[in-house]
Amino acid sequence: MKIAIASGKGGVGKTTFAVNLASSYDKEINLVDCDVEEPNCHLFFDEIPYKTKEVFNIIPKLDKNLCDNCGICRKFCNYGAIINGKNHPLIFDEMCHSCGGCIKLCPKSALIEEKRKVGEIEFIKHKNINLISGKTTVGTSASPFLIKHTKNMVDNNNLTIFDIAPGSACPVVSGLFGCDVALLIAEPTPFGLHDLKLIVSLIKDMNIPFFIVVNKMEKGNSIIHDFCKAENIKIIMELEENQEISKIYSNGKILVNENQKYKNLFKNLLDELVKKHD
Ligand code: SF4
Ligand code: SF4
Repeated sequence: MKIAIASGKGGVGKTTFAVNLASSYDKEINLVDCDVEEPNCHLFFDEIPYKTKEVFNIIPKLDKNLCDNCGICRKFCNYGAIINGKNHPLIFDEMCHSCGGCIKLCPKSALIEEKRKVGEIEFIKHKNINLISGKTTVGTSASPFLIKHTKNMVDNNNLTIFDIAPGSACPVVSGLFGCDVALLIAEPTPFGLHDLKLIVSLIKDMNIPFFIVVNKMEKGNSIIHDFCKAENIKIIMELEENQEISKIYSNGKILVNENQKYKNLFKNLLDELVKKHD
């Protein structure tokens, strides 16, 4: 079973939630960090990677001697990575999404495939958790490509939790793709609600079952509850903001390892999700 942990915005506790959920499980489990532009799951574990895999894609490299500046490649590129030059097109590697279309279409075979490193995938073993963590190379625009490769490293026999990038753009779609259920972590603030609405709309379009987790819950604040009631969305968990939780996190510890009440809470949630799926 594949469980996505997502949020409409950063800073709402998505990664800590994913780490706690994985840590509450007693059997072998995969935790996949799909937030490849800023992977943070590994910060909760002391172990160093036992394996690292480099990931490459291809970008076009121009042979100026063959090019007649026909402009076909520039017209084709949807990402604005190719612009007009005086004698030949100019290619901006950092804008290229490696679709390969320009290389295939060039009538003069003037565009040659060149390998570009887009990131690395790190593998860390912590007790029963297999952490698989993608990390992009700075200056590349290949997050969806790297996310796909990172997800391909997963042993599908185990329960898997995916920590998805925040927001509702392309890397989020890549992370959510193929997941059985998603938990959307929401913060009860006007900004939190605004961004929650965006990801709810996206996830409905993707037809993935989902539930809401309200994090940093405050007494008397019903902003997320009102929205969920109106939209008929189930809130599956609420976590209050308190000093004990803040202290545990500020010491770099994992909540469920420090407090049995929370371990039971997260474990019960995981059991409930697995039961709903079976
Ligand atoms: S399609 Fe080929 S020949 Fe035409 S401008 Fe591009 S690189 Fe040059
Ligand atoms: S490979 Fe695709 S994205 Fe990259 S420059 Fe060519 S057409 Fe544009």
